[in-house]
Amino acid sequence: MLFLQGMRKLFTDIRSIHGIETDPKSLLKGTEMSRVDSIHDAWLLTDNGNFADWGSMQDSNLPKADEIISLQGLEVLPGLVDSHTHCIFAEPRSTEWEMRLKGATYEEIAAAGGGILNSAAKLRSMDEEWLYEKSLNRVLTMIAHGSTTIEIKSGYGLSTESELKMLRIARRIKKNVKATIKTTFLGAHAVPPEFNGRQDDYVAHIINQMLQAVSEDGLADHMDVFCDRGFFTPEQTLQLLEAAARYGLPAKIHANELGITGGVQVAAQAGAWSADHLEHIGAEEIECLRNSEVMPVGLPGTSYFLDIPYTPARMIIDAGLPFALASDFNPGSSPVCNMQMIWSLGCSRMKMLPAEAFNAITLNAARSLRLENTAGSIAIGKQADFWTTETGNAVQSVPYFFGVNHANAVYCKGTKV
Ligand SMILES: [Zn+2]
Repeated sequence: MLFLQGMRKLFTDIRSIHGIETDPKSLLKGTEMSRVDSIHDAWLLTDNGNFADWGSMQDSNLPKADEIISLQGLEVLPGLVDSHTHCIFAEPRSTEWEMRLKGATYEEIAAAGGGILNSAAKLRSMDEEWLYEKSLNRVLTMIAHGSTTIEIKSGYGLSTESELKMLRIARRIKKNVKATIKTTFLGAHAVPPEFNGRQDDYVAHIINQMLQAVSEDGLADHMDVFCDRGFFTPEQTLQLLEAAARYGLPAKIHANELGITGGVQVAAQAGAWSADHLEHIGAEEIECLRNSEVMPVGLPGTSYFLDIPYTPARMIIDAGLPFALASDFNPGSSPVCNMQMIWSLGCSRMKMLPAEAFNAITLNAARSLRLENTAGSIAIGKQADFWTTETGNAVQSVPYFFGVNHANAVYCKGTKV
């Protein structure tokens, strides 16, 4: 029997390793975000799938290893963390996109039975096996672009049966890919047609039935609510998140995408791990975030695709707060699965420095999933999740040369995938 336990791999001839932490932090805030530690002409050692050590190729004695892999002058970056995706969906919504290009708004499309409800109708009727295959392919594409930790939400089922179907698919993906997968129950993404005009009844239904079914099957790691104008109110959101807490599910929240609607305050009150979107925030929300453990998360793919304001990243970082970025990969408002593109949008559209946006898609993103002890940087003992690139001076050049995949190879727990 072959034991891989204790397997040591030595990666040599690395031009630069970026995102090294000798004194690991749980998150980076304010001015700390503009720093990325790198070493050059280096080797990297992994042991049993975790980072074990690194050093200079000029060292006279390289460490002993079971396998030596020359990376032939490539650069190494920590695996990217995509903390917010809706990658399980039935069909693209490119027809709606064209409607919008002709002048219809997101809310008008939703009112006309499009949007999330359109996705839900298609997903409910779709065969589970086929939906799994489609979704798995999307996840593999994300991984090929350097994402080694991926969060997956339900929220296109909006019935117990279909939400469970989505979460089962997410769990099956988790089993069959090498990346780290976390799942989120988002039954409160929209009100399904059978509860039309009875929003409180749907909230009660989620609390009394769906949450129990989800937790019985152990299918979710977190609960999320779309708290915004036309979706769920702050009061309903708090009720939902408090119920989730009773089932041991920590909170994440979609907040302040469509207006200043109280989402940030609810996130703080519920002790949410993250508040995502935040396109519309002011001084009050900043103050509220400052007094909480909530990670603010911007989703620039959504702003780009919907042509809505970007999350004021500068205001958040300059206030001394941490900040993370995610793709929000979904068919309606952010059909992008490439975190390198999110990195670039963070810079060019949100005025983040390349290093700040890098930290926003690595360590801080890991923190938003409370995975900072195993992911988000190259630190001894963390999972050896990393990717290689031919692109020199990668921290600046990857987001600069936007729109292409810079990943040469992607490694999860020390193994090339
Ligand atoms: Zn979302």
